[in-house]
Amino acid sequence: MIIGCDIDGVLTPLRFRINFRLPWWVFLFLAFVPSNKRMLKILISLSASHKIVLVSSRPKQLNWLTQWWLKRNYVPYSSLFLVESGPGIEQRKLEIIREEKIDLFIDDDEKIVIFLREHGINALSPEGVFLKI
Ligand SMILES: [Mg+2]
Repeated sequence: MIIGCDIDGVLTPLRFRINFRLPWWVFLFLAFVPSNKRMLKILISLSASHKIVLVSSRPKQLNWLTQWWLKRNYVPYSSLFLVESGPGIEQRKLEIIREEKIDLFIDDDEKIVIFLREHGINALSPEGVFLKI
């Protein structure tokens, strides 16, 4: 199975939704954010038998920083897609999910989970994952 996962609010404790674009350097603090240990443990065990694809609304300029953070926190993943925040975020995530043939997507943003389900994607919130695993 291919499991898709959001980063902020799922692998980090930061739950935020930005409805407009901010300069990328505003997010440099993300290098120092701790990981969500509970979710990370689950992802590590899932990665033994599933492919993990990360899809985040972070700006593309943060690709290097995000990869560095993922490595530092031992996050297992085979690819990373940064789709930018702001209007249309749901659609941009959906496009990647379809292109990458993701079977299950985990996102903390309720609006995104609902949107994905409406488009036939199996989507869960982190709480939903905790209940199932
Ligand atoms: Mg999120």
